[in-house]
Amino acid sequence: MMKRSAKLSDSLRQAAAAISRAESIVAMGHIGPDGDALGSMLAIARGAANAGKKACATFGEPFVVGKQFTFLDMALLVPPGEVPESVDVAVVVDTSVAGRLGSALPIVERAATVVVVDHHLSQDAQVGDIHVVDTSAGAAAQVTYRLFRELGWEIDKEMATALYVGIVTDTGRFQYSATSPEVHRITAELIEAGVEPAEVSRHVYEESPFAYLGVAGSVLSRCRLEADKRLVWSLLTREDLAAAELKYEDADGLIDLIRIAEESDVACLLRELGDDKYKGSLRSRGRVDVSKIAAQFGGGGHHNAAGFVSAGPLGEILDRIGAELT
Ligand code: 5GP
Ligand code: MN
Repeated sequence: MMKRSAKLSDSLRQAAAAISRAESIVAMGHIGPDGDALGSMLAIARGAANAGKKACATFGEPFVVGKQFTFLDMALLVPPGEVPESVDVAVVVDTSVAGRLGSALPIVERAATVVVVDHHLSQDAQVGDIHVVDTSAGAAAQVTYRLFRELGWEIDKEMATALYVGIVTDTGRFQYSATSPEVHRITAELIEAGVEPAEVSRHVYEESPFAYLGVAGSVLSRCRLEADKRLVWSLLTREDLAAAELKYEDADGLIDLIRIAEESDVACLLRELGDDKYKGSLRSRGRVDVSKIAAQFGGGGHHNAAGFVSAGPLGEILDRIGAELT
């Protein structure tokens, strides 16, 4: 196994010590939690409860979980308003950016100790006393798994399934560059702990409403290739979703259809949020660091996958992205 830096194993030990001592724990992911944020926070809350602690998981409003993840054990998931006033340790997963915590940020601010478990660059970490951050990890769930090993916590089937969801989604089903031997070793152990991969895949990837196909068709027919910039982009409108009676969080995965255009280095999906605001998802084939483009809009992410929220108009957002690509 790859030797990890002394700093990283120090912080892992410090995090485990703080969590061991704590009587109450809240695990928290970023707003609009993806499979990794959700899986990591649910696994931590359940592990802490199994260890006899008062535990819950939460994230900032809107307090909505994507339908594809609702098969996970969410017994400990509560809206931010229901988190107890004082908690010993808050564990923030899959981000360390204060703004990404939304309405759950005050919970972190009043926690006695804040542990960050993440795989994003955190040069300017804005929350956290102890940072367990490994930017080479494919998922925060992978770092969470190491924390459980350090804590000596048993990983039951529900925890394993939650971590597996984090890993399978954030590695693009074991396709992206961070899909290391460790990812596969951890995954093997999670399957030994009871994960049923086919069942997870069915829930996460193969249970979209029929109307999703129409939405995907609209978004694909709207795709534009800017050959000189090697940029492929499209737009998901609010009307697309309304006409199909789908919600915003039902429309994940569209960027993965767009990004396959081989004439592109960068793929971008802009989703209308209303009030002339857009959520941008950026993907790179490796040549371009899209986290730098997202940062132009106050967003962030990784070299090959990043996101942001920006005011419109749409044309200006595209011009700013294009300017980074010429
Ligand atoms: P997605 O496009 O799937 O929403 O996000 C891709 C990556 O970018 C993920 O690692 C996610 O955490 C990050 N990301 C997405 N949106 C934002 C944002 O608004 N701010 C920051 N800092 N990171 C984001
Ligand atoms: Mn992640």
